[in-house]
Amino acid sequence: MRGRTLVLVGWTLRPDRDEDAPPTTHRYKCLALEEDDSECAAEGEPTETPEEAQAWPFAHMRGNPGHTSYAEIIERPWVMWRGGRT
Ligand SMILES: [Zn+2]
Repeated sequence: MRGRTLVLVGWTLRPDRDEDAPPTTHRYKCLALEEDDSECAAEGEPTETPEEAQAWPFAHMRGNPGHTSYAEIIERPWVMWRGGRT
């Protein structure tokens, strides 16, 4: 099986560290299953530090004592950039 071409000539994908780039954010999603086996899937608000994001699972578990499994979702801005390859 042939792979698809992931590089467009002249373009590079890089983390967006420009001053006006959106911030990297952290949030947690609840992975607990409800009684009907559907996912709770509740998510905390995105925050700009991992520590701030960690408050949400505690608050969520207080109201949902069986919900003890979480995934951290990190959203990091990337940008396509013309140049960088010769
Ligand atoms: Zn939950």
